[in-house]
Amino acid sequence: MKLLFERSREGHSAQHLPQTQLSGYSLPEQLRRCRELRLPALAETEISRHYTELSQQVHGVNSGFYPLGSCTMKYNPKIDEQIASLPGFTGIHPLQPVSTAQGCLEVLDRAGQALCEITGMDAMSFQPAAGAHGEFTGLLLIKAYHQARGEGEQRTKVIVPDSAHGTNPATATMCGYTIVNIASNAAGGVDLDALRRAVGADTAALMLTNPNTVGIFDPNILEITRIVHEAGGQCYYDGANMNAIMGLARPGDMGFDVVHLNIHKTFATPHGGGGPGSGPCGCKAHLAPFLPADQVTEAADGYRLERPAQSIGRVKAFFGNFLVVVKALTYIISLGAEGIVEAAETAVLNANYMKKRLSPYYHMAYDDFCMHEFVLSLAGEKSRFDVSALDVAKALMDHGMHPPTMYFPLIVPEALMIEPTETESKDTLDEAIEAFIAVQRQLQADAASLRQAPQATPVRRLDETQAARRPVLTYQEKEL
Ligand SMILES: *Cc1c(COP(=O)(O)O)cnc(C)c1O
Repeated sequence: MKLLFERSREGHSAQHLPQTQLSGYSLPEQLRRCRELRLPALAETEISRHYTELSQQVHGVNSGFYPLGSCTMKYNPKIDEQIASLPGFTGIHPLQPVSTAQGCLEVLDRAGQALCEITGMDAMSFQPAAGAHGEFTGLLLIKAYHQARGEGEQRTKVIVPDSAHGTNPATATMCGYTIVNIASNAAGGVDLDALRRAVGADTAALMLTNPNTVGIFDPNILEITRIVHEAGGQCYYDGANMNAIMGLARPGDMGFDVVHLNIHKTFATPHGGGGPGSGPCGCKAHLAPFLPADQVTEAADGYRLERPAQSIGRVKAFFGNFLVVVKALTYIISLGAEGIVEAAETAVLNANYMKKRLSPYYHMAYDDFCMHEFVLSLAGEKSRFDVSALDVAKALMDHGMHPPTMYFPLIVPEALMIEPTETESKDTLDEAIEAFIAVQRQLQADAASLRQAPQATPVRRLDETQAARRPVLTYQEKEL
């Protein structure tokens, strides 16, 4: 499609600016442009059509099925956006006196209480802007805790299972820790013997997500957190997969000391290119004195802001992405305690329904029941037909859906990871299942054709390496 600059025609305009009221004012010479500002000249219809066309070139959860595993791309109720756009929330200034911002502080306080209840934590900070940022904050709490106990020097290692999301080892490295990678067992969970061998007086923490990135809830979780605690380490819960268990099981009860949540995954905010996220970090009481400044507290005369006694400081300006918290609280209140449980149960049911129906056609990496997502492997197809997980993902796009997550987790060869979420109807799931089956049939009948997919998208196969390494994101104006 054409760029705005390429559509520009001299004389076209959508400007209706009044004549200036200022007279006799001129900018100092050195501040003036040396040449005319070149803006595209377009009529309002042309601008409107351009942006509408642009919006139709992408696939979002508002346009169709988006089963991107480990991301929880669910449909977000519009009421959350409506509440977050109320002027009382959008017109607030972060520096206005606390006495005039009581309603907004109440939102933070109530959202914190709800998320503490859901996670089994005692305190919550909304400063982190996304999941990885929440991990960073959580590990800083753990680091401050060990330091306060005089064990900061000695505890230098963070244990991370090989099924972990890449942000976990990255976060631990940024916090100055050395990573100890431990293997998963055949069932996809933590290998207890490997964990026992890995822990010691140098263990700062274990980072774990449960259910993990292969969609499996680790039945040994109490034993796992006990082993780490006995060695003097802390347990960090990566809450990105909370959608599967919210209202049903709590990280706090599993023995975790710190969690982060991804509001943009579990609690109704668009993510990816869709807007700012929020990665609140919650902790048990023994870590609360280290939380970022400031925390909202309730006193007799209203809400106040307080700096926790041994605070690690600020990790973001003011209160993080406040409007995202408004959406989360709206979502929690509108679903209610039962609705939250039902959402989690439906997410798990939908994943198991798809997994079961696809099992005759695709090789599942793990046989057992899954939680909110499941992983299939195309290693067999790769060796027999020279067709990869990438080819299958591209072919699925021709069926009008966003492809699943590819090549993750790393422990499954030729992996596709599917997370349907609770917001899809049985009809949509059935259509997606038919699409997967059609692609498997196409693969068997004419493998070469799969390598030509996608055929029906605005662009075909892109050079993904160049697009990531050398993206062209700006328009280079041609010299006049
Ligand atoms: C998405 C995700 C993260 C990172 O969260 P962001 O909000 O993208 O920074 C961490 N861990 C897991 C398991 C995830 O799925």
